Amino acid sequence: MRLALVGFGHEANTFAPSAATLAAWRLAGILEGEEIRDRHERSESILAGYFGYAAEDPAAEVVPLAYSWITPTGASTAEAFEHLTGLMLARLRDQGPWDGVLLPQHGAAVADGHPDADGEFLRRVRAAVGPDVPIGVTLDLHANISRQLVEHADVVTVYQTNPHVDAREQGLACARLLARTIRGEIRPVLALAQLPLAAGILRMGTGQEPMRGLLALAREQERRPGVLSVSLVEGFPYADVAEMGMSVVAVADADPALAADAARTVAAATWERRAEFVGTAPGTEEAMRQAGAAADGADGPVLVLDMGDNVGGGSPGDSTHVLHAARRLGVKGVAQCVYDPAVALSCAAAGVGARVDLTVGGKVDDRHGEPFPIRGEVIAVTDGRFEDTTATHAGARVFDLGTSAGVRTDDGFLLALHSRPEGTWSRLQFSTLGIDPAAVPIIVAKGVHAPRAAFEPIASRLIWADTPGSTSADPSVFEFGHRRRPMYPFEPAARFDPESVR
Ligand SMILES: [Zn+2]
Repeated sequence: MRLALVGFGHEANTFAPSAATLAAWRLAGILEGEEIRDRHERSESILAGYFGYAAEDPAAEVVPLAYSWITPTGASTAEAFEHLTGLMLARLRDQGPWDGVLLPQHGAAVADGHPDADGEFLRRVRAAVGPDVPIGVTLDLHANISRQLVEHADVVTVYQTNPHVDAREQGLACARLLARTIRGEIRPVLALAQLPLAAGILRMGTGQEPMRGLLALAREQERRPGVLSVSLVEGFPYADVAEMGMSVVAVADADPALAADAARTVAAATWERRAEFVGTAPGTEEAMRQAGAAADGADGPVLVLDMGDNVGGGSPGDSTHVLHAARRLGVKGVAQCVYDPAVALSCAAAGVGARVDLTVGGKVDDRHGEPFPIRGEVIAVTDGRFEDTTATHAGARVFDLGTSAGVRTDDGFLLALHSRPEGTWSRLQFSTLGIDPAAVPIIVAKGVHAPRAAFEPIASRLIWADTPGSTSADPSVFEFGHRRRPMYPFEPAARFDPESVR
């Protein structure tokens, strides 16, 4: 059983300042052949789940063809999309025939000319392999799932945790269902419920309500005879596309009505609880005031989540709003990562122990704060590469943040300066730069839920800050031209039509 592995992961924030150009994809790494296995087999990613299937089934071979994953950013250029899909389809055609195809997508990709870039890729893959070769897709919980994607897939599995710690498990589940399909043991049919509901990012944690209870309902639906998989999908609200929003995908064995009923049941329950998906958080200054008070005498650092600069959602990672607020308020002992390649390089050139006088961050655009002036000392310099074997969001293990430097400022800030943008997903982003995250009073993390996998175990308290930026917690600050209307909470009178589920 030869299974092709090919795909690309992109969560496109159409409100973000920078595009996913071909150069950006190349910098992120377009992997081919065995380097995909080398990079992913030991990780906790979707691809590790696919390779894991080949390890448990001696008759199955997973052949890695081409794969790329880019840190969330703006939409791909047409050139980048055509290059990536062209490469992938060429490898599929050249190295076939295949018994099945495994696609580790994200599900919220957008490209110039193809707002439903994942669906368009599925359409092209289906055209390349024909109608009889089963296609399995594994998606991120933040996928915006289109009807086109579901129509061209045979199996769809989706992360059901946030932070995402089940990527490998969902990849494995997808591969198992695909193999059973190829063997003729099952005949999967899909149903999709698209809810006219944009979930607020604050309410996307799967350990909390309403997601916790709704996911339990999805698991319950999976226990119905003939139901193979049910995924409740949060969607990615920072994308101005028609398929933006929450959805439910159900897979049943040869019974379209059963698949639709399972999807409809979970979707209806989600719709009933739509008001619980609206979250609010204190603004920057109020959050830092609370953090300063909470850090006093706390057992472990206070974790402040900088929501407006959520790199995992497409923000630049160089926001300084929180740093400025801390300085204005006299809040001491703040550690934060900042994406600033020029400053990281100049600190590295100055060397450990050097005095520096610089302005940090706030340079990508004018929404993420003014540059932050600092005077201080370089305490560490690295190439930014490390492996984290502890639990991290999406099973990330190998990090490459480019030339990086740790700086202690004269007024007590601890800054981890990186040359590549990255969400604050690993404690090693600090500890490799001479900053012990467990020992600092306040850690500012770029993200909303993703940093929790690494930092919640050491944090005394979590405070979400509704900071300005490309991933503001308040969706009403963005101007949408292409999303569906009406949609909750933008138009509170929106209605969910159970008959639309099919
Ligand atoms: Zn996600």
